[in-house]
Amino acid sequence: MERIGILKERADRRVVVLSPAGVERLAGKATVFVQRDAGRAAGFTNEAYTVAGAQVMEREEDVIAQANILLSYDHHYQGGPLNEDKTFIGFFNFLGVPSKLELYQREGVTAYSLDLMPRTTLAQAMDVLSSVGSISGYQAVLLAAERSLATVPMITSAGGTLRPAVFLIMGAGVAGLQAIATARRLGAVVKAYDVRAASREEVQSLGAEFIEVEGAVNDRDAGGYAVQQSEAFLAQVRERIAQEAAKADVIITTARIPGKKAPVLITEEMVMGMKPGAVIVDLAAASGGNCTLTQPDTTVMRNEVTILGPTSIECSCAHSTSFLLSNNYSTFIEHFLVKRESVAEDEILRSTLVVQNGELVNERVRALATPIL
Ligand code: NAD
Repeated sequence: MERIGILKERADRRVVVLSPAGVERLAGKATVFVQRDAGRAAGFTNEAYTVAGAQVMEREEDVIAQANILLSYDHHYQGGPLNEDKTFIGFFNFLGVPSKLELYQREGVTAYSLDLMPRTTLAQAMDVLSSVGSISGYQAVLLAAERSLATVPMITSAGGTLRPAVFLIMGAGVAGLQAIATARRLGAVVKAYDVRAASREEVQSLGAEFIEVEGAVNDRDAGGYAVQQSEAFLAQVRERIAQEAAKADVIITTARIPGKKAPVLITEEMVMGMKPGAVIVDLAAASGGNCTLTQPDTTVMRNEVTILGPTSIECSCAHSTSFLLSNNYSTFIEHFLVKRESVAEDEILRSTLVVQNGELVNERVRALATPIL
């Protein structure tokens, strides 16, 4: 029987990667050890884990000592005694922060990072990036609506009629599409832009207007992701978007390119041309930001425009995010338990395995990140 451990995240990361239902799902395949209060901030009590069949343990060291497979979100193993081979499975973002590789390499352990999941049909149920993207897009709209000085839907009242807010969504991937859908449900007028030509139809099918800018480079081999654009093209986008930004009450930016700094789509000059009271929520803050004024996890005010750069907005909706993560992680674990002896032949394990017994084995991480050792 496998021994799986669930580690508690940092206080500001309120999520847990395996819920009590996830523990039940793995019954018969694994014994689960859970660090006390690992699920508490997400609404899962220690008692619920016990009822589901997990053993609650006081300290992280105890969980690490008992389990051979350690699960977390972005909590990292801090070092310390290891009594046998350990496999760490998480959402480690080694592409963005390659310095995190060092410890896993030094300690000779194995680490899988689920943010490297291939965008294939088979991998869809394990796609943590999509789960996090959906919740982030939804939550970004609520945050913007709450910080905006204007209401979102059209409201007719005794004092007159309030016009619907105009939302501009930059980047129409998973987070952007969910932001569009949420803003539409709230009654906003929504416009959106993405460099991937394929996103036009998706944007329009949600009832939003697609902003056309000709000349983007699209690469069919990029696994469904956008590729880096020339500075001349980005300048052309900014010129076109400046006109829309001046009319927007809210801008939500989600544009990212894996392993690269996020493209600049909103400049200070554009912010100066926006309406006082407007709000920008920059979901690319952790990878440099789509707005030049964004500061990660800090509120910036410029020209009476509020600029927010939340880096873990999905954690504020911790119960729902954990529900999705738990399904993603338990599907991945079931797959891992069946296929781990043939990693080289399995695209899902090959793509997500980063460090194997201390050795950096992931080509994508090797190419895009700078290894420490
Ligand atoms: P992401 O988070 O890497 O990027 C967000 C969006 O930013 C993308 O739509 C990207 O095109 C856009 N972007 C990048 N540079 C831009 C620029 N300069 N200007 C405007 N927009 C820019 O992407 P994501 O949300 O994770 O999804 C990327 C694609 O993968 C989407 O097509 C999505 O539907 C697809 N996908 C497929 C699967 C699957 O098949 N299993 C799962 C999830 C996502």
